[in-house]
Amino acid sequence: SLLQEIRTYGSKGWAIVYGVSGAGEYERAAGGAWITGHKGKRFLDCGSFALFMFGHGNSKILTALQDLLSDGLSGTSRVLCHAELAVALESLVALAPSHLQKAMFLNSGSEAVEAAIKLCRLKTKRKKLAHLSGSYHGKTAGALSLTDHAGFKADAHPLLQDVVRIERENAIELETALATGDIAGLFVEAVQGEGGIHPVEPAFLQTAYKLCRQYGTLLVADEIQSGLGRTGRLWAFERSNIEPDIVLAGKSLGGGIVPVSALIASESAFSPFDHNPYLHSSTYGGNPLACRTVIAVTEIAQAKNFLPDVEQKGAWIESALEHLHNQFSDVLSACTGFGLMRGLHFSSNIYAATTLEYCLKTGLLLSPCLSNPTVLRLVPPYCLERSDVDYMHGVLQQALHHCRT
Ligand code: PMP
Repeated sequence: SLLQEIRTYGSKGWAIVYGVSGAGEYERAAGGAWITGHKGKRFLDCGSFALFMFGHGNSKILTALQDLLSDGLSGTSRVLCHAELAVALESLVALAPSHLQKAMFLNSGSEAVEAAIKLCRLKTKRKKLAHLSGSYHGKTAGALSLTDHAGFKADAHPLLQDVVRIERENAIELETALATGDIAGLFVEAVQGEGGIHPVEPAFLQTAYKLCRQYGTLLVADEIQSGLGRTGRLWAFERSNIEPDIVLAGKSLGGGIVPVSALIASESAFSPFDHNPYLHSSTYGGNPLACRTVIAVTEIAQAKNFLPDVEQKGAWIESALEHLHNQFSDVLSACTGFGLMRGLHFSSNIYAATTLEYCLKTGLLLSPCLSNPTVLRLVPPYCLERSDVDYMHGVLQQALHHCRT
């Protein structure tokens, strides 16, 4: 694809670098919303795949980790209890709506999706699973089965059987599928991320919630990308006033540095794992580094000014994007999203790739959406300043202008 290239690291490994030619820079340092490359060039980070909600080098997170290291990493033996796990579980559950009372930690988003798949099947004693068009739930076998992207699935078959794809916002198709009474779980992202920053209509999510209740299907809200304040609410599904049985968190939960994800569930949905904890375990799930990070991150997310701050910065971005859309509607066909989760929809892949490359070279990082290369993601940290939004606006303006030339 025009948007990515494979970089080799020595002769032993590789990574996919997003943005043509990667600006020839390796990351050297980072702080707040900015990253510095090894040649000294600075980049405003509005990309990084929505990992750095809490900023680069967040002192609260770094201090928590440094304290743990200087304590001698207590608790890593996994034989005796470590106190951090109880505190981390409680802090995370405290951030969730009150009907969700149980949680477990895993190591990646996909792994949390796998746990949710298993839980839905165990709880309902059904096999089938449903997801929406435009979904992205990960790339391990189960999660990939629920991801709406034929290219990512190529050659990975056979994946899970009995998976139903529901057209996003088609309530009739959804009811027909759920009314069969054999669907264990419906997986949704209230704001789809990799599919192109598509907020799912609240009315559709409301219907999905009611139908799931009616037909005994568990509703799983995948908040791996949209959760922890990213959209201006702690959880994106809160805009739809629904009560999912299971909520999944990841990405921001690890502060961008520690791999950790979580499954949060109602007592009832979680009961199969409660009855037999051996049904799902993960050696590093809930390790002390992960727990200290979760404690720090949840403290930040709980602060009184956190969500208003996200809303404020989101509003600055929204008005900048509106301005750009009015000025360049031939290139930039739409802007979607909420808070600090925004999508720039281009009228062609070439325009998206040109903008990505121009921004990268100029010093603004954006991420393409993995399943939809006509959309660039703008997912900055919440510590963004007004001057950063002005800078972002200026660089995008030049980039869009460059697309026309
Ligand atoms: N669900 C969603 C909504 C995601 O955005 C992602 C990652 N892009 C995943 C699941 C998978 O997470 P991971 O890459 O950590 O396995």
